[in-house]
Amino acid sequence: MKKTDRLSKIKRMRTWGNWSMGIGILLMYSGYAFFAGYLDFIPFLGTWLKGSYAFMTLLLIIGFLLTMGSTVLFMISGMVSMSAPQVECPSCKKVTKMLGKEDACMFCGQPLRLEDEQPQQNQT
Ligand SMILES: [Zn+2]
Repeated sequence: MKKTDRLSKIKRMRTWGNWSMGIGILLMYSGYAFFAGYLDFIPFLGTWLKGSYAFMTLLLIIGFLLTMGSTVLFMISGMVSMSAPQVECPSCKKVTKMLGKEDACMFCGQPLRLEDEQPQQNQT
C-alpha cells in the first residue's frame, strides 16, 4: 500500500478530479431519481422527496458544481504538468515531473526534492 502523502501532486489532483466528477454525476442522477419517484421504495425519504423541485434543484446544482470543479482540476493539472520541470527519478530511472520544491515520483512514489542544480551565474 502506498501512503497518500507519497503520491505525486499531479496524480493527487487527478484523483480528486476523478472523485468529484463521479460524485457529481451520482448526485445529479440521484436528484432526478428522487424527483421522478424511482427511489420511493425508501421509507419516508423517498416518498417525502418525490416531486420535490427544491431538492432536485439543490442536488443538480451541487452535482453540476462538482463536475465543473473536476473539469477545472483536470485543466489545472494539465496546464501545470506542461510547465513542470522534468527530473529523472533516482530509484526507477523514469522521467517524472515535479510540482514545487518537493514532490513524489509519479511512477514509484519516491519522494523527490528539487535542488538548485545550476549555481547562480553572475549576470551584470
Ligand atoms: Zn520513480
